[in-house]
Amino acid sequence: MSAQLTTQLAVFLQSYNGDEVERLITRQYEGEPTVNVSITDLAAFSKDIVDDLGSKPDHIIDHFESAIHDYRDAIEMARDGDDLTADRVPEVPQDPLIPTDTEIRFVEPTSEIFHDIGAPRDDKINELVAFEGTCKQLSDNKPRIIETQFVCDRCTTKTGFIDVSHTFELKEAIPHECAGCERQGPFSRVSDAEIREEYQQIRLQEPPGEAINEASPREVIGDIMGDHLIDEAQPGDRVTLVGVLREHGDTDSTLVDTRLEVLSVIPEEVQFEEVDFDETDVERIEEIASSPAVFDYVKSSVAPSIYGNEKAKLGVALQMFGGVSRRLHGNRKRGEIHIMFIGDPGVGKSQILESARSLAPRSVSSSGTGSSSVGLTASAQKETIGGEEEWTLQAGSLVLADGGMITIDELDNMEFREQQSLDEALSEGQISVDKANVHATLKARCSALMAANPEHGRFDPYEPISEQFAMPKELLDRCDLVFAFRDVPDDDLDAAIVDTVLESHAVEPITADGGLQDPSEAGFIDADLFRKYVAYARRNYQPELSEDAREKLKDWYLTIRSMSDADEAKISINTRMFEGAIRLSEASARARLSETATVDDVERAIGLVMSMLKELGMDPESGGFDVDALGGRTASQKKRVKVIKNTIQELAGDEAPTRADVLDALDDYDKDKIDTEIDRLKTEGELYAPEGGAGLRVS
Ligand SMILES: [Zn+2]
Repeated sequence: MSAQLTTQLAVFLQSYNGDEVERLITRQYEGEPTVNVSITDLAAFSKDIVDDLGSKPDHIIDHFESAIHDYRDAIEMARDGDDLTADRVPEVPQDPLIPTDTEIRFVEPTSEIFHDIGAPRDDKINELVAFEGTCKQLSDNKPRIIETQFVCDRCTTKTGFIDVSHTFELKEAIPHECAGCERQGPFSRVSDAEIREEYQQIRLQEPPGEAINEASPREVIGDIMGDHLIDEAQPGDRVTLVGVLREHGDTDSTLVDTRLEVLSVIPEEVQFEEVDFDETDVERIEEIASSPAVFDYVKSSVAPSIYGNEKAKLGVALQMFGGVSRRLHGNRKRGEIHIMFIGDPGVGKSQILESARSLAPRSVSSSGTGSSSVGLTASAQKETIGGEEEWTLQAGSLVLADGGMITIDELDNMEFREQQSLDEALSEGQISVDKANVHATLKARCSALMAANPEHGRFDPYEPISEQFAMPKELLDRCDLVFAFRDVPDDDLDAAIVDTVLESHAVEPITADGGLQDPSEAGFIDADLFRKYVAYARRNYQPELSEDAREKLKDWYLTIRSMSDADEAKISINTRMFEGAIRLSEASARARLSETATVDDVERAIGLVMSMLKELGMDPESGGFDVDALGGRTASQKKRVKVIKNTIQELAGDEAPTRADVLDALDDYDKDKIDTEIDRLKTEGELYAPEGGAGLRVS
């Protein structure tokens, strides 16, 4: 051991960690005895030591420990130097000086220490490295033997303490021959004197948006040892692990397995906003945001190659900007906007989802048909760790998307149970796991963009959604906006689609270095700039509703409610939709880079909510809204069924009345609707044609 290095480190500790070490010496510390050494500070102190720390961490750590233990002496020695003054020397008790289990935690790693999870690691073995990623999985903690002794069963000769901290295989440490009787044992472990530490295994994976292959992000396994590091992270958390990369010895394979011996777990508070932008970006973003065409720009930027669906695109764009999450009486009021796309397959739903995923910072995609065993939420499962079956807690997509956005395609293919946990996540912003001895609540504060296909063939606007889409009603209720996608054959539309596709290839997107196009022309924002725009708006603007905007929302809400109170209409609009309108208004203000949501923002939000109600909930005949229609049949539909059945029964004689008879009798009603309704009633078996003829009878 180099006394010079120890002294240097003691001087470093005095300069940068003086208070902390003094608390240790005077036993004034709270929690576990640790010293947090900033690698950044250390680099400022001596670049050479940091280089050595990187390449020979064990060596430097030994010296650090010795520097801490010799702290007082080192101060005495350093006092002769120039940069320390006598009044910095603390009053210390004689004995003991420093807790013997003091641990060094390396924090604030420099960029040279950081290593990508996906990059080759062979040349980093036994070096100090930092990995940043998302905690994917965490095992239950257990005591693990660090050093132990063996005793010869024949002559009771004990071995010295043997370090077993780098292996799970105790038998590898058993001596070949007894030092006493020179025979080959057998040996037993002396458990009462051994050194143990709490152990936990962590799997860290490449964070969303940074993996080369988003479908299978790469990971690094970390061995966490010591009480002070247990449960410092939980699945879904973004963390930096600093430690020494070790070759993992428990394998007979020629493939080298590496593990990180974790020295510190540093939580990283990462949100949606984690995107870097420079001055040029900000200038361009402000230019777009103050343009009168700002909302044309943002909505055109969502899936620019897909024609139409303007409202859905605007909704998705606002979803990315998001409302403002607030704490109210200790409860979290979510700012995340959830959107559901329902409708026919192959009409662009998936493309919009995919576009949203690529535009939203920190987004995770998932599918109801995904084969992942962990799936969407989180799971507690058994896994072999060190030859034993241990419980581990693994984060699903929703947890990994915490602070970001999740897109879920083919929601209808998801198991019902999983759809229900999805509901918990979307409403509470968290997921609870209660299985065996694993009890945890994981954060899942993400906005969700979901798409579902109808169970049987095509989406029928006259059919209740709940019967066409396999999902719990609560999940649909959780959505701030629901959009229906229909595959309506239309030559003009088809031509327009082709044109849009062609145009989207011809139009240059708006980038940070280019100029804004003429706002009268459809322009869309380049994906990279859009991501920055969203991040910039979310980081810097937390808009509140203006007094006028508040009034406007209130008026709208009360008007719609009073409309729905009329005659047969069900409760038309509830507070959930009201809150959704607030979130959308805030998002609209954010897109304009404004701290105030104005009447215009509220009108934009109301426009979207109303279009959802019209599409799905409004009873077109009574003019009232019927929220039940979101999950059931509208009041007019029920009335129509009753009229049709009554008419058929009234007309029925020896001969059953034909469809034409019924339509004639009901010529006050919308012919198409009666026609559609008769088809539906026949399909459902509520009406039947006797002997396969043209007549109709009520079942
Ligand atoms: Zn022996």
